[in-house]
Amino acid sequence: MFGLIGHSTSFEAAREKARTLGFEEFAEGDLDVWCSAPPQLVEHLQVTSATGKTIEGAYIDSCFVPEMLSRFKTARRKVLSAMELAQKNGIDITALGGFTSIIFENFNLLKEQQIRSTTLEWERFTTGNTHTAWVICRQVETNAPKLGIDLSQARVAVIGATGDIGSAVCRWLSQRTGVKELLLVARQAQPLLDLQQELGGGRILKLEEALLEADVVVWVASLPQTLSIDAASLKSPCLMIDGGYPKNLDTKASGNGIHVLKGGIVEFFSDITWQMMEMAEMDNPKRQMFACFAEAILLEFEGIHTNFSWGRNNISLDKMDLIGAASLRHGFQALGLSAQIDPTP
Ligand code: NDP
Repeated sequence: MFGLIGHSTSFEAAREKARTLGFEEFAEGDLDVWCSAPPQLVEHLQVTSATGKTIEGAYIDSCFVPEMLSRFKTARRKVLSAMELAQKNGIDITALGGFTSIIFENFNLLKEQQIRSTTLEWERFTTGNTHTAWVICRQVETNAPKLGIDLSQARVAVIGATGDIGSAVCRWLSQRTGVKELLLVARQAQPLLDLQQELGGGRILKLEEALLEADVVVWVASLPQTLSIDAASLKSPCLMIDGGYPKNLDTKASGNGIHVLKGGIVEFFSDITWQMMEMAEMDNPKRQMFACFAEAILLEFEGIHTNFSWGRNNISLDKMDLIGAASLRHGFQALGLSAQIDPTP
């Protein structure tokens, strides 16, 4: 059985969801009420692969909302309690979606294996980052040529290059895709230098500098709300893969020749009967989902019950190959730009 741990995109969206599901007391409650709310297993579902195999799963809402990010103890409790609920329900492999994997890593919750009477078994959980990284690379490879961008001649900026997903994307784009040059962007200097050495190349730049030169920009960092982009200074055409969470890049960069694609999103080949993705603001909620969620589904299809993506900067190209092949075999496709694209700037 696979599990998905998710959360609403905002406090208001969470209240709306509670109203839809009939949890009136939460729908009317303030943020403090939500802070003390336990996680809920809100939905059981079945998924049938393109190979014909059918598996069972469950969606757990952690009752976390981004407005709680500054409340360390609450965020920590929400994530760990949701994991405990997944394990108590006998779920073999559960993906930590949205902010939950970031909270797990950044708050170092690996130290907190004991939750009440439950010892969390880490092998039951995955961040889903290997599949997310593979999907983002595939989105670069298939969509850049649609805009007339020849990747062998292109500069690709990776914003968040030293992160778990970013570093995997850099490895793949330099070794497999063969882009002309990687532009590496993050805030801390030493991890950037270490990455540059590991890759044997790539140029370290500030965000503003990288944006001026990039034909493709891969965003794999949660950026401040205040970030503004001077769209007029971007190259045209410019492919922007919005791999961060939440996905709000289209509100910051738009204009002639700028093509923003939601990154790390996959579409399944057939409809899935579930309510939860309706709330995740997907264009086609019966088929589209975050690639990290799809990783748990893929691991269940493949019978791989282990924490496939875990820790930081452990994603190898071999693992990306494995999960990528499974993704295609079971009927997932990376989200692409619409067919109606005029490649002229
Ligand atoms: P990490 O915490 O491992 O990495 C974050 C990276 O972003 C680091 O390189 C960090 O480096 C950099 N960074 C953070 N803030 C800034 C900033 N203001 N300017 C430039 N660089 C910055 O995160 P992950 O790799 O796990 O996840 C990356 C993003 O992908 C997140 O936003 C996450 O929510 C999203 N995600 C999306 C998924 C999907 O859509 N399917 C699935 C999973 C994750 P430094 O600290 O040095 O700046």
